Amino acid sequence: MRIGLGEDTHRLTDGGPLRLGGIDIPHDKHAVGHSDADVLLHAVTDALLGAAGLPDIGQLFPNTDEANRDRDSAEMLQLAHRNVNQVGLQIVNLDCVVAAQQPKLAPHKEDIRQRIADILAIATDQINVKAKTGEGVGPVGEQQAIEARCVALLENTS
Ligand code: MG
Repeated sequence: MRIGLGEDTHRLTDGGPLRLGGIDIPHDKHAVGHSDADVLLHAVTDALLGAAGLPDIGQLFPNTDEANRDRDSAEMLQLAHRNVNQVGLQIVNLDCVVAAQQPKLAPHKEDIRQRIADILAIATDQINVKAKTGEGVGPVGEQQAIEARCVALLENTS
């Protein structure tokens, strides 16, 4: 068994929708980034790579590479997952937390879970997604930023 932690933060700016967990959520802000700025998929990607002891998302997909501009984070996650599988590891489960003051994520959590399961070709019960606010303070609470964390447990396939 191997465990990995992924964390990510993106700035928010005016204009929706909000890309999160591979889906577009209706909102009046979106996350800013070199790729599609999907903070949750980036955290999941880094958790998987970290658990496998592989180079992190910034090394794998540098923001100095024009090929990564506006890149679909689902595709990056799939490539990272393939690298993880190639070193003989598979996902046991993922536990994720998103910190966002707005929008309320409860109505979208199941869709996000299903989308991540589809991206990784695993079962939805291998993924949990929780949502927290910033309690109205700090960058998250003041809606300047969105954050995500993910813990991944992997096991040997052999
Ligand atoms: Mg990121």
